[in-house]
Amino acid sequence: MKRALLVVDYTYDFVAEDGALTCGQPGIELETYIVDLTKGFLNEGELVIMPVDLHEQNDPYHPETKLFPPHNLKGTSGRNPYGALHNLYEENKDRIIWMDKTRYSAFAGTDLELQLRARGITELHLVGVCTDICILHTSVDAYNRGFDLVIHEKGVASFDSAGHEWALRHFEKSLGAKVIH
Ligand code: ZN
Repeated sequence: MKRALLVVDYTYDFVAEDGALTCGQPGIELETYIVDLTKGFLNEGELVIMPVDLHEQNDPYHPETKLFPPHNLKGTSGRNPYGALHNLYEENKDRIIWMDKTRYSAFAGTDLELQLRARGITELHLVGVCTDICILHTSVDAYNRGFDLVIHEKGVASFDSAGHEWALRHFEKSLGAKVIH
């Protein structure tokens, strides 16, 4: 069994107090856990991938334009990893795969599946935000592609606490994920 860590959308816009579409305090509180877990995977020589939302300003063809304020715009610092993850990423750029994505799921329109299959990875560990949006959609796609899932409860958060709780149950009960409490 080979593992990979997906750090999903843990960016300034989604996490910082003044981020463009922030999930706020619950997201901020993940920083140490996500940084430590990322270091752990890197120290073991295991794969770390950072799928990060990418948008164009006022893109008339993007469904999120009607749903959310502009966020994670191309070329802005809002897309930088949040807090200490930023430095960790900069220091390990050669080993971490940065993956632009334009939909909630990290599998949608990216080569994520090809990168994982090429390395024989069968188990995905997920952290980041939001539990009930991008983590959820990525998990559903991973499930449908036959990957084993491990969700780190201390590494995921949402602005919507009811959605967060619902998604944690869904991972476990419907996607067969291991949720590390
Ligand atoms: Zn988005």
